[in-house]
Amino acid sequence: MSDERAQELELLPFSYPEITISENSATLKMPVDLECPLQVNSDDGGQHSVLYLPSLTLSFALPNGYPADCPPCVRIACSALPNDVLDPLEAKLAALWEEYGRVAVITIYISEVTEAINTNFGIDRMNVSQGKFKELVEFDSEAQLENFKKCSHVCDLCIETRPGQNCHRMTRCGHIFCVDCLQSFYSGFIKAGDVNNITCLEPDCGSENDDVRARRGKKKRLLSPRELLQIPLERHYVQRYVDIKRKKRLDADKTTVWCPRTWCQGASKASRYPKSTVPLEEMNESDTEDESTASTELPSSEQIDHLKTLTRAEQLEHIKQKYGERLHVCEDCGFAFCKFCKHSWHGEGIVDCLPERLNDEISAEEKASLAYIATHTTPCPRCAAPISKIDACNHVTCYNCLKHLCYLCGMELDSTDPYKHFNTKGSSCYQKLFPTWGGDAENQDEFAGVRAAEIQALRLEEEERERRQREADVEAQRLAQQRREEWEARMGAVFPPEQ
Ligand SMILES: [Zn+2]
Ligand SMILES: [Zn+2]
Ligand SMILES: [Zn+2]
Ligand SMILES: [Zn+2]
Ligand SMILES: [Zn+2]
Ligand SMILES: [Zn+2]
Repeated sequence: MSDERAQELELLPFSYPEITISENSATLKMPVDLECPLQVNSDDGGQHSVLYLPSLTLSFALPNGYPADCPPCVRIACSALPNDVLDPLEAKLAALWEEYGRVAVITIYISEVTEAINTNFGIDRMNVSQGKFKELVEFDSEAQLENFKKCSHVCDLCIETRPGQNCHRMTRCGHIFCVDCLQSFYSGFIKAGDVNNITCLEPDCGSENDDVRARRGKKKRLLSPRELLQIPLERHYVQRYVDIKRKKRLDADKTTVWCPRTWCQGASKASRYPKSTVPLEEMNESDTEDESTASTELPSSEQIDHLKTLTRAEQLEHIKQKYGERLHVCEDCGFAFCKFCKHSWHGEGIVDCLPERLNDEISAEEKASLAYIATHTTPCPRCAAPISKIDACNHVTCYNCLKHLCYLCGMELDSTDPYKHFNTKGSSCYQKLFPTWGGDAENQDEFAGVRAAEIQALRLEEEERERRQREADVEAQRLAQQRREEWEARMGAVFPPEQ
């Protein structure tokens, strides 16, 4: 009897090399590669068709008395499949032993399970939890990618057959291109700032949906940063792609508040398109070109007329409620400023400024105050309150946060010894506690510190802009030449010159 069990087990590895045999038992791991797609539904409404599921494990134990008197014990385990699929299959296998007349049935069991896999277990859809759904979709896309890399494909652009390792299949539409073609076209487009061309390069792609798209006023879908990295496209191009797209949105959005420092021109942190902190790998959205329809946030003339009928306190309350916070902070240079008067932040109660378009509502006294702030103060490095200098001494204290700072360079000073900054050799403001110390006080710009840096930054920015423009011109010429050569090469291949 035991001989019969051993004989059956000994033969199994010839047909199933992956099988693991132990005494009177065996385990076989079987890949679940489906022949037609199986729809998986997530309990939060997600839907995806998969071709590959995590593998299934079939285990047998052959008890004393098998095969004549006892059936084998059988277990099927698969993390992907629910019990209402596995249990009936197990029951079906158990019945086979009797049906076949109590003989050795292990190979019959294995063929039965293979048949079940080939017919999608008799189901056409499967409902799973949100977490399981994500796991299955990821498994499927990895398995499909592996399979894709093993085969050869024809690039839709250069019409050459390439190994799968050097090809990329578009996530959305499935069109296939070689990595060389994609890299050269996409890097060229991004260098030229042409981000709306980062779509599938097949000219007719998505044409069957054109009507729908035209009705919605939408353009071709742009690739996600994550997919660009998968191609792979060099990281700095992908970063530039993300930056340009965001800049375009900010430009189109009339509610964007820009940093008033001319050398900075960053957007306020409160903008509707905040700088993303998500790594490029996780930027999965393949959005369309975005056309913002945002309306301006400044008051209309009727609203201004209405405002004029209110008291000062009511006006302020109304402005805050309707137009939001006046305090904005630049995300690039950190400058804290008032959205309406564009001066460094003055606090809610310090200057009752009104929107620029309400300028005629500002009293002469307040205008003088704003002008004074603009020309005679430097922003506190800690809280951005405008600090003015009472006497000649360049050590000042912020009236708002009580920090000690240097009026010349704007540096925060050690409160236990604020004068160290002026007494230490090598310090930028050594011997400059009083302007006369340097000896050339008459020639010195009153705003030698922060203001001088702004003026210098302005000049550097201008030089940088010119340099970038020159670079962009050269690059555009090179790209045009390259495209022309590519086109000629392709035309030459189709219509060879006559001998
Ligand atoms: Zn190609
Ligand atoms: Zn396509
Ligand atoms: Zn700024
Ligand atoms: Zn203001
Ligand atoms: Zn302060
Ligand atoms: Zn200083």
